[in-house]
Amino acid sequence: MNVSVVLFTSDLRLHDHPPLRAALEGRRRAVPLFVRDTAVERSAFAAPNRLAFLADCLRDLDAGLRERGGRLVVRSGDVVDEVCKVAAEADADEVHMAADFSAYARRREERLRSALEAEGRRLLVHDAVTTAIAPGAVTPASSDHFAVFTPYFRQWSQQWLREPVGAPRTVRVPDGVGSEELPARAAVAGVSEGLAPGGEVAGRKRLTAWLRAGVASYGDRHDDLAGDATSRLSPHLHFGTLSPVELVGRARQAGGPGADAFVRQLAWRDFHRQVLAARPQSATADYRTKHDRWRSERTARADIEAWREGRTGYPVVDAAMRQLLHEGWMHNRGRLLSASFLAKTLYVDWRVGARHFLELLVDGDIANNQLNWQWMAGTGTDTRPNRVLNPVTQGKRHDPDGAYVRRWVPELADVAGPVVHEPWKLQGLDRAALDYPDPIVDLSDGLARFRRARGHD
Ligand code: FAD
Repeated sequence: MNVSVVLFTSDLRLHDHPPLRAALEGRRRAVPLFVRDTAVERSAFAAPNRLAFLADCLRDLDAGLRERGGRLVVRSGDVVDEVCKVAAEADADEVHMAADFSAYARRREERLRSALEAEGRRLLVHDAVTTAIAPGAVTPASSDHFAVFTPYFRQWSQQWLREPVGAPRTVRVPDGVGSEELPARAAVAGVSEGLAPGGEVAGRKRLTAWLRAGVASYGDRHDDLAGDATSRLSPHLHFGTLSPVELVGRARQAGGPGADAFVRQLAWRDFHRQVLAARPQSATADYRTKHDRWRSERTARADIEAWREGRTGYPVVDAAMRQLLHEGWMHNRGRLLSASFLAKTLYVDWRVGARHFLELLVDGDIANNQLNWQWMAGTGTDTRPNRVLNPVTQGKRHDPDGAYVRRWVPELADVAGPVVHEPWKLQGLDRAALDYPDPIVDLSDGLARFRRARGHD
């Protein structure tokens, strides 16, 4: 037979792709396959921004494979059925894929393994392709996963990191395995205007620029909302157009405090994956419940709408929410303070916020999104679960001149200086002329409600 299938999922790249390298070893031929999973594409998880970015990634992957003599095969349907069909058409004896960690991904892997074995084929699953360090590779003495980041990071940092593998020079594919037409970004409706381009080429360009000119100041500037001085590599990590192993390795080579701080953030990504792998239910259920009795979606409807639209009357929250609508991406500091505002100040269930983020975020990711929401709601791994971020203090600290607010909230574009974070302090005509809402909640009322709900009063 001497033919393999390589199933691409969230690893849409040619550089540092161990499943592809293994599939081609010994002059074997390989079918690079991507299955558009109809169950996912019919679900709420199929957000336009991610579908558009995915279309870019698939076209780019196909172009890279063609340069090497191959091509990408795209099919639509149930992943297990489609892989089995392609394996039969190509007369392949093995299928390679990267390990993934959501409950859905793990069920898919199990189903695929038994379906292939029933036909006399093997499934080979590769670790450390979608993470730098695989979930379960480091564990505390008393549990199957780390529930606190700092000790996790200590052990994670001491792990051996495999060497990245180069992109293959040639990809030999068997004849006679047909592909559907590749999806196109232009065919996706409802995409955010400022959505970044997808694909490995775009990702590698951004990575090179980041290592040359961004990472050195990351430690000092990562919270600077207007400075926009984070890597913006998250969509590439989500779709796997960049390899986390390569990123950690290259950042370590770059060295310095900025690179150290950046590597620490990459470890957060692995941390959440090992939590999700061990507790798949944490995607929807409280990881450490505080027995919250959140305001119902019905009671809080108007507040939730104002939050989604960026009309809460708190400028930095509104700026962050509008950045999300416009770009399908939001600065981490914006994510933190808008999540704190929804879950703690408005006391709305974190799942309502997480769902909205997943409808828009191009990097929207079950592990990172759900567990960061839980972290901020105080039902997750935060060791200070009752912390509340004050949007005015946060605004003044992380957007001291107000430039971020003015960029995203045009109604406030003419308000100079930090008073833009408290437009209610403007006097007379200045205030009356603004088409900008009054705050939907008094911060101390919100805090009092939260403290009562969590049993602190
Ligand atoms: P950088 O600051 O340059 O960091 C580099 C990489 O490290 C990121 O690309 C990301 O992969 C990882 N990283 C950074 N911070 C975190 C973190 N707190 N947790 C896990 N990984 C991290 N990130 C997602 O990738 N997808 C999500 O759906 C997502 N939802 C979030 C929801 C909330 C409420 C919060 C508070 C954070 C969320 N994050 C999510 C984490 C973080 O905000 C983004 O990863 C980051 O803003 C992406 O921008 P960047 O690539 O410029 O990050």
